[in-house]
Amino acid sequence: MKKVRTIQTIIILILLSAVLAGFGPARITYPETESLEVIALDWRQDLRTLRLNFPLDPLLADGLKVYFLVERKYLAAIGESGYSYTIETSRFIQTGEKNLRPKADGAGGLNGAYHSYRELVSELKSLAAAYPGLARLFIPGKSLENRNIYALKISDNPGLSENEPGIAFLGGHHAREWISVEVPLLIGRYLLENYNRDARVRELVNSAEIWIVPLVNPDGLEYSILNYRLWRKNRRLNQDGSYGVDLNRNYSYQWGYDDIGSSPEPFSAVFRGTGPFSEPETEAIRNLFQSHRISAAISYHSFSQLILYPWGYFDQPSEDELLFQSLAADMAGLIAQVNGRVYQTGRAAASLYLTNGDFADWAFGFYRIPAFTIELPPVDLLQGGFLNSESDIEPIFLENLPAALYLIERAVASYAGTGTRLGPLLRKELEKNRKSMIKDRPGAAFMGKESR
Ligand SMILES: [Zn+2]
Repeated sequence: MKKVRTIQTIIILILLSAVLAGFGPARITYPETESLEVIALDWRQDLRTLRLNFPLDPLLADGLKVYFLVERKYLAAIGESGYSYTIETSRFIQTGEKNLRPKADGAGGLNGAYHSYRELVSELKSLAAAYPGLARLFIPGKSLENRNIYALKISDNPGLSENEPGIAFLGGHHAREWISVEVPLLIGRYLLENYNRDARVRELVNSAEIWIVPLVNPDGLEYSILNYRLWRKNRRLNQDGSYGVDLNRNYSYQWGYDDIGSSPEPFSAVFRGTGPFSEPETEAIRNLFQSHRISAAISYHSFSQLILYPWGYFDQPSEDELLFQSLAADMAGLIAQVNGRVYQTGRAAASLYLTNGDFADWAFGFYRIPAFTIELPPVDLLQGGFLNSESDIEPIFLENLPAALYLIERAVASYAGTGTRLGPLLRKELEKNRKSMIKDRPGAAFMGKESR
């Protein structure tokens, strides 16, 4: 009987999909992905010069072969440059939308140990349920496709708004940067699991309101898992038929300052949207900041191993450059102590590339709080770019934990009893013993062309 019902269900589903295929909305092709090939290059060739000339996105490394996504129009030029490659597109599944994803996947589904939206929601709900005295789940907004954007508040008396500094840890602005979801989530879990056994954690949780927003772009993440691994933006259907607004170019501070730090072209990977906060996902973050007192923030991205601070929109020091330098240097020192990995620090515009309308410029520009962008490992494309392995999650979280705790600690120390924000106080503290002039950053190394 059960078997018959299963067969009936399958037949209905087949008929239904045939109907949908015939009469559903016309498929839209994606300018960013329609002409891509997967090529394999020999690892032993010097790929650096090639990388300078062509946009290459690494998919994976397998033995001596490195697989890249590349636009078909560059293939001839790559050959002419003397590089030998093979086309391997058939090794990858081609979906109906001509997007590519590897055939092999881990036990946890296509996303392996990384969280899908559904897995993340379930994890956040269990944390809130397991620690009702320390955690509460908020929904400051919804995505375009109606998924909730969650903010897990961690504090003593999480149901009350106490006179304590708020520190926000954000991740998942960009769909393909899966590791950026894991790090804030694991920081939240760590605080809750160690509250009873670690006096330092207890003190911080008691004196601060910690906001964990691991996934700003849930629609994009799902698209990256199910359709196209290297998807970056949200899933806005733009007027020209292309998809996506770059959420980290959609914040209002100096939005659209120039066309280098963001693009007015909808098909661009760094399309800033039709106006500041045009997207519900960034609006959710604005809601969170408007309704709660946030005194410091880290927005996690990948990749590059960088600790960046404002300004991103133009390459000039802010009046808090010294404060930013000092906090970033301390955090980089703490990170390096864990696994020995070096995160360079610097002003965003000088260290990576110009960005306008990003989260950190907005949080600092409007709220005058220390706001950082941390670009997580790896350091470059040749080490994997956006594609971290499952075994990267734990060490990357562990090395970022002390820096996160440190920022909470500094926020608490500067805030205690005053009711003011971290920035002005720390600035005073720094001005008192200002010893050093602003040092020039060592020349920023070439970081690859892909937007992060
Ligand atoms: Zn990013």
